Amino acid sequence: MIYIDKTNQEAIDFVTTFIDFNWLEQNDKTYKYQNIGYPQIKNPVKRFRAFFVDEQNNKCCYCCRDIVNDNSTELEHIIPKTKSILIDFEPYYQHSNVLRQNVVPQSIFELSISKLNKPPFPHHIAYHNIVASCNGKTFESSEDFTCCNRERGDEFVPPFNLMQDAIEYLPDGTIVYMRELQNRTYFEILNLSKEILINIRRLWYLFSISQLTLEQILDEKSIITLEEKINVHAIAHSPTLIEDFKLLETFSNPNIWNIFKEYSYFFDYYRN
Ligand SMILES: [Zn+2]
Repeated sequence: MIYIDKTNQEAIDFVTTFIDFNWLEQNDKTYKYQNIGYPQIKNPVKRFRAFFVDEQNNKCCYCCRDIVNDNSTELEHIIPKTKSILIDFEPYYQHSNVLRQNVVPQSIFELSISKLNKPPFPHHIAYHNIVASCNGKTFESSEDFTCCNRERGDEFVPPFNLMQDAIEYLPDGTIVYMRELQNRTYFEILNLSKEILINIRRLWYLFSISQLTLEQILDEKSIITLEEKINVHAIAHSPTLIEDFKLLETFSNPNIWNIFKEYSYFFDYYRN
């Protein structure tokens, strides 16, 4: 999970202008907001999605895998689009002032008969309520599970991406919610505690304490073989050598290694 400080003024201005532009005169000469839905604002999607992929440095908001601005990347509403009344927003507000100050139910705008000040913004199109995630299908064929956006549905998960220092990754690859140390429920909802993901983070941890640079680890033409990288450089320095030896078998599979490389976010995370 990554922390995103939602301060991109260009994106805020974009949404503001979009809403203002759609304050339109009706047949009966009154004014209303029209066509301010999510399908309209994200058209063309590549332009809209860029705000989120860029500010997240091309990382999935949940699993931290590399993402790019194409159709394999999905936009996710922190407060789901299906929530419609203010009382359903309260659990999110309790965890994030960014949401409380900037995001209100879509209907408040759609039903308004007067022009409204912004912020706050309607939740279907509020920049502050949208994050970019992978499509969750990374492990669908190899490990038979999906994660991230695919799994959450409309279930409540704290708005981790807007909560600074809420999440920590431990050297063993597990995730901890710093405000409720024993609570792993949310990571299970997102399927981020699957063994393969824990092992990916564990191996990145071992690389982070190795002598190798990130470039050397990712380099396919390196004179160091894949097995040497994993075995000699990472696992051999593990204080729990026996347990970590299983990582060699998993990650010396070139397909799994390619997936592993997409999680290089954790190299810097652990090295720092
Ligand atoms: Zn993901």
